[in-house]
Amino acid sequence: MISQDNFVPFARPDITEAEIKAVVDTMRSGWLTTGPNAGAFEEEFASFLGEGIQAVAVNSATAGLHLAVEALGIGPGDEVLVPTWTFTSTAEVLRYVGARPVFVDVEPDTLAIDLDAAGRAVTSRTKAIMPVHFAGLPIPRRRIAQFARLHGLYVIEDAAHSFPVLDEARMVGDSNSEAVVFSFYATKTITTGEGGMLVTRNPDLARRARIMRLHGISRDVFDRYRSTKPSWHYEVVAPGFKYNLTDTAAALGRVQLSRAKDMAAARQQIAKRYSSEFAGLALTLPVGAREPGGHAWHIYAIRLTDESAVSRDQFIERVAAAGVGTSVHFIPLHLHPYWRDTFGLRAEDFPVATDAFARAVSLPIFSAMTDREVDRVIDTVRQVVGA
Ligand SMILES: *Cc1c(COP(=O)(O)O)cnc(C)c1O
Repeated sequence: MISQDNFVPFARPDITEAEIKAVVDTMRSGWLTTGPNAGAFEEEFASFLGEGIQAVAVNSATAGLHLAVEALGIGPGDEVLVPTWTFTSTAEVLRYVGARPVFVDVEPDTLAIDLDAAGRAVTSRTKAIMPVHFAGLPIPRRRIAQFARLHGLYVIEDAAHSFPVLDEARMVGDSNSEAVVFSFYATKTITTGEGGMLVTRNPDLARRARIMRLHGISRDVFDRYRSTKPSWHYEVVAPGFKYNLTDTAAALGRVQLSRAKDMAAARQQIAKRYSSEFAGLALTLPVGAREPGGHAWHIYAIRLTDESAVSRDQFIERVAAAGVGTSVHFIPLHLHPYWRDTFGLRAEDFPVATDAFARAVSLPIFSAMTDREVDRVIDTVRQVVGA
């Protein structure tokens, strides 16, 4: 029998008394919505990444991606290159503005967007590329920048999996791309429950995103109560959205940010153990970091090879029966009914992602995981794949 006690969940948030205290203090402060904590979170996040970066706190990464697309003026008739190997958010924000996602297959080893395939998909209507840092492995920043320059495209990086990550001695987020967006969803590497951060070096983009995240109002709520203008005065300059981050969430995020390196180190240890213990099994293991700290290890995705004793679905069933939770990242977008039917997508046009999907399983990897839980996962995977 599997009880709560011996079930290893796929993910569990890493919340300490410090996060609980920060949230409670905020609740006692009398200021719950966007305010001093959100402002401080933005500043601390931006300076964590590097110099000259602006951070715009939002209530999800999806909101951040939408604001980036909107601020760049992408709209009806425009096309944007998106890897099929991603979560639906990356593409859905293009539908919000009436643009067309153009789906692209991925590289077999990293499962990042395939730039040769992307090059073949470019047309005169292509405006941007949205590469995804899958699992927390950085996209090849120089090749992406070169590709974008060659075709005259904006780059919006989906870095929902990628905090904190070093890439060629810079943080992911410290980039010349137009925007980089992080997620603080409950399962992500740092969390605010729901939340996200849009970062950019472009002050115009940051300004537009700040206005559009709060109803198209020209000043943030908090500033309104501190400015010298009468406190009731504000101006609506566009039909904006309701994407601001609450101060309770930001208070949680600030503590998570202060612990981000330690939590990343814990995930890195788990990934290292998995990769050494699984060597020699009938599995394709994920590509590791190219430099120390060069992988967020938000996801540890294995792929079953033809030599495996079980199919992917059997694997998931059997490890679940042994009390280990798993997930699949991703069901590629071209296989989902909405994207498939709206854009007439065919599985055979995305051979790498289609094959990877049939084999992929994500194992538990989270900073609050105990050694016993890690051992359980290792023993279970060995038994099931080897069986
Ligand atoms: C989680 C995720 C998102 C969306 O993040 P939210 O904060 O939940 O909106 C976007 N892209 C990828 C690749 C993700 O994994």
